[in-house]
Amino acid sequence: MPAFDEVKILDVYHWNDTLFSFKTTRQESLRFRNGHFVMIGLEVNEKPLMRAYSIASPNYESHLEFLSIKVPNGSLTSRLQHIQPGDRLLMGHKTVGTLVIDDLRPGRRLFLFATGTGLAPFMSIIQDPETYERFETVVLIHGVRLVSELAYAEFIRESLPQHEWLGEMVREQLIYYPTVTREAFAHTGRLTTAIESGQLFRDIEQPELDAATDRVMICGSPAMLKESASLLDQRGFAISAGAGEQGDYVIERAFAER
Ligand SMILES: Cc1cc2nc3c(=O)[nH]c(=O)nc-3n(C[C@H](O)[C@H](O)[C@H](O)COP(=O)(O)OP(=O)(O)OC[C@H]3O[C@@H](n4cnc5c(N)ncnc54)[C@H](O)[C@@H]3O)c2cc1C
Repeated sequence: MPAFDEVKILDVYHWNDTLFSFKTTRQESLRFRNGHFVMIGLEVNEKPLMRAYSIASPNYESHLEFLSIKVPNGSLTSRLQHIQPGDRLLMGHKTVGTLVIDDLRPGRRLFLFATGTGLAPFMSIIQDPETYERFETVVLIHGVRLVSELAYAEFIRESLPQHEWLGEMVREQLIYYPTVTREAFAHTGRLTTAIESGQLFRDIEQPELDAATDRVMICGSPAMLKESASLLDQRGFAISAGAGEQGDYVIERAFAER
């Protein structure tokens, strides 16, 4: 069996000059849990150049969707950003990851902390009916530098609440809180500052974080991950050890640390 499958690009959408999304065909054999990532890439100099990517589409869709950064001079993304519908993409056979709701203890509220492309796995999680069955309230916080980096904002605000069978759950249970650091916007400042200052909770009219009732998933930059983990630890939240060991919060390193 070849090391990687070949899938086809179906659609590409550029949010701005640093961020794009694309849809691909899905191998029939590919099974995944919402929140998982897979290795994808291109053949460069006759060798596969592969990187980890969170799957942004929910696992019941027949296609796959990804949200990607365009790193200037990035080995993969300087090439990947030029893909067009019909192009081929290499994809691993296996999906993995620690951002799965099964690794969280039962709770009442689920907080999803994302910065940048760290939003990707949460796009699949907020489209999973099980998320709304397991938690009464789901709060998605997306921190970015620029308003144009608020990928999927319109989909989350306008389309998802009208979804045929998820819409009612989304309307009643999902709170979306985008926050922008370098431009004027309804909510500004860093995600962790909004939590620590209590501004987030005042804005969404919800009580502050409580380890007795709340569960958290974190995905984004190493700095945000570190700060978020530390603020949760101080509040008595226990991290999941992964592999089915439940905890109060789970993390994924979405940005490669080099
Ligand atoms: C588990 C996991 C899941 C990931 N999921 C995604 C995803 O859904 N979408 C995505 O775009 N990337 C994701 N990444 C990062 C991805 O694997 C690559 O690093 C990214 O595509 C850039 O590849 P590159 O070869 O162009 O540059 P690289 O050589 O891989 O990276 C160069 C530098 O760019 C920065 N960088 C890399 N990725 C990002 C990013 N996403 N946002 C901001 N800065 C970054 C880092 O400082 C890195 O050192 C994920 C990484 C991991 C480990």
